[in-house]
This record gives sequence, structure tokens and C-alpha cells, in this order.
Amino acid sequence: MTRRTFLMSAAAAPALSMASGERSTEGGFREPLRDLPFAPECDVIVAGGGPAGIAAAVSAARAGAKVRLFEMHGALGGVWTSGFLGCLIDFDKSDTDREILRRLKDMDALRDRNPRRTNARTATFVYDPESMKVVCEEMCAEAGVEFCLHTAVVAAYRDPSGRNIGTVVTESKAGRRAWRAKAYVDCTGDGDLAAQCGCGFDVGGPGGTNDQPASLCAMVMSPHPDRIAPYVVNHPSNFDAHGRQVESAKKKMHAEMVRAGLDPSYSMPTLFMVREGVYVWMMNHVYGLKVDDAAGIARETVRVRREVLEGARALAQLGGAWEGFCVVATAEQLGHRAARRVHGRYTLTAADVQSGAVFPDAVTTSNFTVDVHATTAAGNRKAAYGTMGVKARPFQIPLRACMAKDVDNLYLAGRCISGDFIPMASYRVTGSAVAMGEAVGRAAAARVRT
Ligand SMILES: Cc1cc2nc3c(=O)[nH]c(=O)nc-3n(C[C@H](O)[C@H](O)[C@H](O)COP(=O)(O)OP(=O)(O)OC[C@H]3O[C@@H](n4cnc5c(N)ncnc54)[C@H](O)[C@@H]3O)c2cc1C
Repeated sequence: MTRRTFLMSAAAAPALSMASGERSTEGGFREPLRDLPFAPECDVIVAGGGPAGIAAAVSAARAGAKVRLFEMHGALGGVWTSGFLGCLIDFDKSDTDREILRRLKDMDALRDRNPRRTNARTATFVYDPESMKVVCEEMCAEAGVEFCLHTAVVAAYRDPSGRNIGTVVTESKAGRRAWRAKAYVDCTGDGDLAAQCGCGFDVGGPGGTNDQPASLCAMVMSPHPDRIAPYVVNHPSNFDAHGRQVESAKKKMHAEMVRAGLDPSYSMPTLFMVREGVYVWMMNHVYGLKVDDAAGIARETVRVRREVLEGARALAQLGGAWEGFCVVATAEQLGHRAARRVHGRYTLTAADVQSGAVFPDAVTTSNFTVDVHATTAAGNRKAAYGTMGVKARPFQIPLRACMAKDVDNLYLAGRCISGDFIPMASYRVTGSAVAMGEAVGRAAAARVRT
């Protein structure tokens, strides 16, 4: 053996022995124990860089905390960017909302959803997802947030007291790494971090029914923006001078899809104009998918991607308004409306929504309606979405709903806070996610100062 081959096999030996595990008594595979490199401790770790996560990280950092943010996709922004959502709802109630709007406007990347709006109850806007990536990155970088992309939080361990998260583990191209902070914020949308450290949570609809469906959005384009204007939700020609919608662009688009021989899984297909000729398209529903069903998520992503492409092709074949209509890109992330609803120190209820509840520790107010998308294909044929008979009044979200019940140093913001199915169908929109994130980031920073 030459000196070179000896060194190579010597270097390989520990790796080989480390890679061998053993069968566990349950018949699974027992992963061998291994030492992970530790990064220097910081004050606040935020898991997930979506609307709630960037707001939490930025506000904690601006309050003086040393903050790390882990995002498993290749961009910050969550469903705004990796999900091509395209629309901001209930979005004028926190400083971070207003800062994001200003930055998007400066980039010429923002439109009013109702261009003739006079006094809409909720402030709703359409934005350009690529510009949103830059806005999120710049806000985090300027605030001093240390953010890692392509880095998933995969495990969490409690400290010896059992009441606090002590360490989280991430996975990236660099392998597994261990990280510590004094406070943690779960902004994964799905409640991954809370589940990893053993917090209780609820999933699903009332009485064991399906949760809200997921959707895969897409960016599409048309060389004839004037011709497809009647089908575009935020086109000025679809509103009268008082800001009232004259005819539903979604219903007209659905009729066109039926004319093209399609039966879309979402019967209110939505086209938002991002800029002249460029649109975000939401035209499908995925029913009965669970947030932790990795194989199901992969299978359904492949299936609905095909639905998007076939839908665009069928419309283009109609010619006329649809001539040249095509998909530019489908989203990286299948958008989940549902989540683990992590048990907090207060759980929002349908009664809170109906009564317009107020709380002494309110972090924001949800002004949006109860928006439950059909949870089955049969339901979608009757109505794509509805309120389930609940008349919402603006209701407050208390900080206690954003604090995990089972762990003391874990905050929650966004989809995964503590609430029942009905309130979640209102507070899940991104204006609320951002406002919760902003408040919770400040609370986490204050906690580490004490
Ligand atoms: C199809 C669809 C249409 C919607 N329509 C609207 C609308 O028009 N307007 C509106 O305002 N809201 C809308 N919503 C609701 C809204 O988009 C979400 O509820 C909102 O994104 C919640 O923000 P979030 O930050 O909690 O979650 P997300 O946007 O999902 O962000 C979570 C982030 O965490 C990351 N992440 C997840 N797990 C991990 C992990 N283990 N480690 C590291 N990172 C992780 C994800 O990659 C993601 O970036 C819609 C939602 C969907 C799905």
C-alpha cells in the first residue's frame, strides 16, 4: 500500500464505522450517536423565513437581539415567494406591513387588488414575488439577522429542566449542525419546531374532517393583456367607479376553463396581474393532504403541476384571448392553508371570532372574514370557499395564543399559532402573520434581556 492510499483508507475508516447503525427493537433503524458541531449561542432562533418568520426575525434584531433565521427553501418569503401567492390580505396594520408595502412600491412591484378602491374593509394588494424575495432579504440583512437558506430545522431537544428548548439541529449541504438560543420562534407555518420538541397540537377540520386544501400556484404570461383583462381579478376594467366589482373575473375564468374541456380542482381560478402581461395563477386544490405526509406532498405536487401546465395549454388552444397564454414557472412550495395548530396558553375559538373578542395582551386584530376553502372535490363543485355560516367580527389575537403551552421559551407566529379551525381560517392570511411575527419577535427579544 502506498502512503497515499494508506492515508485515504485511514481517513475513510471512521466514516464507514460511523455510517453503520443497527436494527432497533421496533424493527426500524437505530441511527448511531454522533457529535455535532455547535455554533456560538445567539439570543433568538427563528425557524422558517416566511411572512411571520421575517417579521419576527427583523423585529427581534431591531430590539437588540442577536438573531438566527433558518429557511429550508432557497429564498426568504415562504408562500409569498417560494409559493407564488401574489396577494397580501389584511395588510395595513403593523409597522412591518407598511414597511414591506413601501419597499415594494419603491421597486414598482405593488398594485392595489381593487384599483378603484374607495373604502375596502381589508387592505389587499398584489405584489411581484421576485421583488418580494429581495425585500425580505434586504430587511433581514439590514437588521443584522444572520439567515441561512436551504437549511431545515430537523430536531429540537429540551434542556435538563424539560420546560425549555435547549438545542435545535439543522440539516443543510453542510450536514447536521447544532444551535442554541435563549428563545425560539416557530414560524415554519406547519409548526415543525413545536412538534419536534414534543408540544401538543391539533390538525384537521371539525369532527375529523379534512383540513383546508393546499394549492400549487404558478406564474403565467399572456402576450395579449387587454384580451384577458376580463379574467384578471385586479384589472381596473372589472370595477365600477365606486370600486365595486362588476362581474366576477373568477367565475368568467372558470367558464373559460370549462369551455376548454377542463374540470379544475378549484372552481374559482384566480388570475392576479403582477405587471402588464405577467400574472400569478391559482387554479387547483389538493384535498386531504397532511402537513407531515412527505410522500403525499411529493405525489400531489407532481400531479397538480401537471394540472397547471395542461390547464394553460388547453386555454391557449382556445385561441382568441388565450392565444400565447403559458406557464412561466410553477411554485417551489405547495402552499398549505392548514397547519399544526400548536397548543398555546390561549386557544382562539369560533366564539371569539363571532363576538369580536378583545384581550389585554392583544398583538394584532384579524379583520379578515372566515375563509374556508372546500375540503373535498365534491364540496368544491358546490362552492369553492365559504364562511361555514360564521359571521366574523374583527377579533384580537392575544400574545398567549403565540406562546407554546408545553415549552416556556418557544413562541409561535403565523399559521401555526393556537386556535381552532374557524379562527385560523381568518388569521391565516399574511397581514396577520406579519403582525404576529413583529410582536412575537419583540417579546422574544424582551425575554432574553430579562
Ligand atoms: C394557496 C394559498 C392561497 C392563499 N391566499 C392568500 C392570500 O391571497 N393572501 C394572504 O395574505 N394569505 C393567503 N394565504 C394564507 C397565507 O399565505 C399563509 O397562511 C401564510 O403564508 C402564513 O405565513 P407563515 O409565515 O406562517 O407560513 P409560510 O408562508 O408557509 O412560511 C413558512 C416558512 O417556513 C419554512 N419552513 C417550513 N418548515 C421548515 C423547517 N422545518 N425548517 C426551516 N424552514 C421551514 C418554509 O419553507 C416557509 O418559507 C394563502 C395560502 C395558501 C396556501
